[in-house]
Amino acid sequence: MTYVVTENCIRCKYMHCVDVCPVQCFCEGENMLVIHPDECINCGICEPECPSNAIVPETHPIAPTWTRHNARYSALWPNILVAKTPPNDAAAFDGLPNKLRDYFSEKPGDDGS
Ligand code: SF4
Ligand code: SF4
Repeated sequence: MTYVVTENCIRCKYMHCVDVCPVQCFCEGENMLVIHPDECINCGICEPECPSNAIVPETHPIAPTWTRHNARYSALWPNILVAKTPPNDAAAFDGLPNKLRDYFSEKPGDDGS
């Protein structure tokens, strides 16, 4: 089992998860993070730390789509080792519907540019 980042991370990207992960397995896109499934040790520490409730175990009902999403983009995006400053408008996007359709960016985060 692994943990996965889901839709509500998009444009929130608070990054509390980065600081608590013991194996630094988060990868950074332009406006969300994902978990590398081969690196996650399933400790669960990150799940309650996410202010957006965007991290779930892969047994969660919404997880299947996001398991594929995390696997796909963790192979494309750079590893993020230290939390950065969240976007100024993060709170305005917390909980909005259809964030994958309307706001998701496939571009890598800063470290990959
Ligand atoms: S703490 Fe949650 S919203 Fe923030 S970057 Fe991590 S998964 Fe995304
Ligand atoms: S479950 Fe543990 S190892 Fe996996 S991403 Fe979260 S903090 Fe990192």
